[in-house]
Amino acid sequence: MDVTSVDAVLMCADPSAWRPGDSWLAGGTVTFSYGTDITRGAPTRLLDITGAGWTPLTWHPHADAPDAFPDLEIAATCRIADLRALADEAAPGGVARADLPGLDLIPPACDAFVASWKIWNVSTVGGNVATALPAGPMISLLSSWDATVLILGRDGSARCVPVAELVVGPARTGLGDGDLIRSFHVSGSVLAQMPAFRRISLTERGRSAALLIGRRTSPTTVRLTVTASTFHPIVLDLAADPAVGQIPADGSAWRDAIDTTVELTRGWYDDIHGEPAWRRLMTHRLGEEILAELLPDHATGIHDAIGRVTGDLRIERTAS
Ligand SMILES: Cc1cc2nc3c(=O)[nH]c(=O)nc-3n(C[C@H](O)[C@H](O)[C@H](O)COP(=O)(O)OP(=O)(O)OC[C@H]3O[C@@H](n4cnc5c(N)ncnc54)[C@H](O)[C@@H]3O)c2cc1C
Repeated sequence: MDVTSVDAVLMCADPSAWRPGDSWLAGGTVTFSYGTDITRGAPTRLLDITGAGWTPLTWHPHADAPDAFPDLEIAATCRIADLRALADEAAPGGVARADLPGLDLIPPACDAFVASWKIWNVSTVGGNVATALPAGPMISLLSSWDATVLILGRDGSARCVPVAELVVGPARTGLGDGDLIRSFHVSGSVLAQMPAFRRISLTERGRSAALLIGRRTSPTTVRLTVTASTFHPIVLDLAADPAVGQIPADGSAWRDAIDTTVELTRGWYDDIHGEPAWRRLMTHRLGEEILAELLPDHATGIHDAIGRVTGDLRIERTAS
């Protein structure tokens, strides 16, 4: 679709060149679908960052701790197709791919786009986060990884914030005028932790109505990230032997905790892709399944969920 408000398109990834009325342009799959910038309004100039030359994916080994798992840096301009390919590549030097099960989240997260490989080949990870749709699967993935985002400001500043905190609502983020997402940073230790993935939609391969990702943070604890059914990511910690402030790893306690948290924020998300009451029940169900999958010997009140798989996307594991 034409963006009829635009007077000029520049190749530029320099925030100091940003003027009122500008919008960053990456893959353009949102901007040219809607014919406008849904986060800022009709742009007069588009600053195209795809020529910045940023390396899509970089592994950073720890020089001072050679046994530690390397951290992963994802450039904002990394295409969905580049990220999807990473899941099938060999792990970085000296690390067995099986030691990084967190990378197994990438295929179902990419499949959660209502989009074909044609869109995967142009749309970017940064564009997905900056658009901040509740059904933004890169927001789900990065939030579940505790990823931080590096943001460059117009005044030459640089700041890092958790992705789960940057996204505050549909098409709303903590990005200020001219702020440019440069990259995302994921700790290797997180990628070494066992994950679980559940997603449901009203139609198979439709827009996500609830997307939950769990990560076993210790033998008896799980971090659970809820997206798509809520206005913004919600991250909860559950423990089989809870300390003060932790949520018991129990089906009933989980349902109460997410209900309370959602009520304290903006409620359950409501649009054509699912009614709030249904999204709530699906969120409960998918969360129970993740607890059962990650803590089968420790979680309580989830007996019915053991071995149960609801929804159309999950991590596919082969015997190898
Ligand atoms: C058929 C189809 C299906 C889709 N399905 C989904 C879906 O299921 N879920 C979903 O979330 N989206 C979906 N999308 C929307 C879109 O493809 C993705 O959100 C995509 O990841 C956006 O990336 P982009 O690079 O194309 O963004 P662009 O269109 O280039 O930009 C989108 C917004 O992000 C801003 N932006 C881009 N990069 C940066 C940056 N580095 N720093 C600051 N701001 C930036 C732009 O200024 C603009 O406001 C779909 C699109 C199509 C066409």
